[in-house]
Amino acid sequence: MIIVNSIEELFEQTANFNGSVGFVPTMGALHEGHLSLIRQAKSNNDFVVVSIFVNPTQFLEGEDLDAYPRKEEADKKICQLAGVDVLFMPNKEMMYEADELSITAPAKRGFILEGAKRPGHFDGMLQVVMKLLNLIAYHKPSIFRAYFGKKDAQQLALITQMVKNYFINVEIVPCAIVRSADGLALSSRNAYLSKEERVRALSLSRSLRKATELVMQKELKVKAIESVMREVLNEVDIEYIALVNRQFQAIDEVEIGNTIILVAARVGHTRLIDNLWI
Ligand code: AMP
Repeated sequence: MIIVNSIEELFEQTANFNGSVGFVPTMGALHEGHLSLIRQAKSNNDFVVVSIFVNPTQFLEGEDLDAYPRKEEADKKICQLAGVDVLFMPNKEMMYEADELSITAPAKRGFILEGAKRPGHFDGMLQVVMKLLNLIAYHKPSIFRAYFGKKDAQQLALITQMVKNYFINVEIVPCAIVRSADGLALSSRNAYLSKEERVRALSLSRSLRKATELVMQKELKVKAIESVMREVLNEVDIEYIALVNRQFQAIDEVEIGNTIILVAARVGHTRLIDNLWI
């Protein structure tokens, strides 16, 4: 594995790629969720690039940018063992200049749910993903695939839309959510949870399982499902519970095969999200 810290070095490496390229963008503090994306990229492509960059423009004022877990040495080992070809670790200065042009998330889909709770977050996320896709594909690989987790369902939908709207030559590959044995969706932010908070955090996945049970019992009404989920989530601070279709439009009834159930909540100081596709 080659570790590159500059754009010039990155281009030197990617110039030699002759075959398909799989790309996994991350913010580091890698866990099994990230690894599952890397493994998929590895099994489907000739070359795999992983990036680690804690992107400042997607953090809002007062969010955890400075406290975001950083585990560079462990991350390097994980990537090495996973057979990553190139690990790209840029810094802020090489990714941004002052007074940049910007990308704005779409007015409807970009400003509900996560976009409403974290205004500006998706603009910054799309901006850095656009940059990273352009950087990795600079030498025009024959096939270019980028891997994103369904864990960040709205992010995935917006990236898919950006690729379509801006005619970017990349296949976006959605990857299943990886959970720990007790159901908690893996997240770098789980590291913030105390033992007691972690137990309470389990109610997010429990509420989603409960929702599935209801759907299996033919309860399809969104209002009814939301109110049962609210009861299950009584020990955390709910930010939103939402049922939407795959285009992130509001629905009144679950349509099996085209629905995403999402939940966001604070457990202590930690903000967690989870979702389930049915
Ligand atoms: P992050 O480092 O949090 O920006 O995440 C990098 C990528 O890993 C994103 O595409 C996430 O959706 C994905 N990811 C994070 N956690 C999980 C998980 N538990 N299961 C699957 N994918 C995940």
